[in-house]
Amino acid sequence: MKYSGCPFCAKSNLKYIYPEISDPENVYAFNYVYCSNCDIAYLNPFPEESDLIAHYGRYVEEAETQDVAEFKIDGVRKRIIDYLRLSEKSDRILDIGCGKGETVYCLSRDGYAIDGIDPYFVPRYDNAGLNERIHTKRIDEAGFPDNHFTVAMMWSTLEHMSDPMALLREVSRITAPGGRLVISVPNFRTFQHRLLKKQWPGFGPPEHLVAYTSRALEKLLFEQGFKLEKRFSDPIYDQWMLKNSLYRYFQETVKKGAKNKQASKDFNKIERLLVGLFSFAFVRTEALVGRYSTSNMVFVKL
Ligand SMILES: [Zn+2]
Repeated sequence: MKYSGCPFCAKSNLKYIYPEISDPENVYAFNYVYCSNCDIAYLNPFPEESDLIAHYGRYVEEAETQDVAEFKIDGVRKRIIDYLRLSEKSDRILDIGCGKGETVYCLSRDGYAIDGIDPYFVPRYDNAGLNERIHTKRIDEAGFPDNHFTVAMMWSTLEHMSDPMALLREVSRITAPGGRLVISVPNFRTFQHRLLKKQWPGFGPPEHLVAYTSRALEKLLFEQGFKLEKRFSDPIYDQWMLKNSLYRYFQETVKKGAKNKQASKDFNKIERLLVGLFSFAFVRTEALVGRYSTSNMVFVKL
């Protein structure tokens, strides 16, 4: 465990907003603090890198049992990729924090030049071509050339990164002028966060180290030479997240003792209908005023 100042401005006037949130296994207690200078919340202390590698190991094991033929790109990811109008000939794509490599697999299968990088994921697929395209290292260790990529993507990645400032600087260096950067990250300043407080899924120790507001992110990216081009909403995903959070909340508070991991199973049809209707109305209201629970943003490199 490493106590530190803000990962962006290094100031250490810590304001504890949610002390002692437990991780899913209730092994450690984590504290989220807020930096008013940057308008972000972050985990303090950060877990050690070795603990994170051990933690993410479970996904590597999970991935080994998965058939790559089942990989697909759908939802907002598909809408954004369609919007980018990728070219098989001229685009060089990098998926940062590619995890199991779904996007790398699907886009390379469709003929695009894409690489993936993830310090926590070791690919062990039967598909040698796929393994080669996924680099198990930190981005600053990869040595990509200046202005190399025309598209950089970070799907649910930035919130996991322990040195986001260095990451954004490196992404700026390797992205060509006119190139695009896609970021999908939980939005800290939303009604969902206000409603769910520390149960908000944007907090997720030990994985989610930083919680960003859309505006803070726009400012940080602008300082690195990126301008916001388009914002996408993802009401279906946001609704699904809210529903699950509500089930877990009611499971803990009302149905004490219920142990079902798939929390919705502890609720009857009418309760499920009510949770569904509430989540639908809540997320649509958020979308109406532009406060999406997940920020899905496309930036252009100036
Ligand atoms: Zn700060």
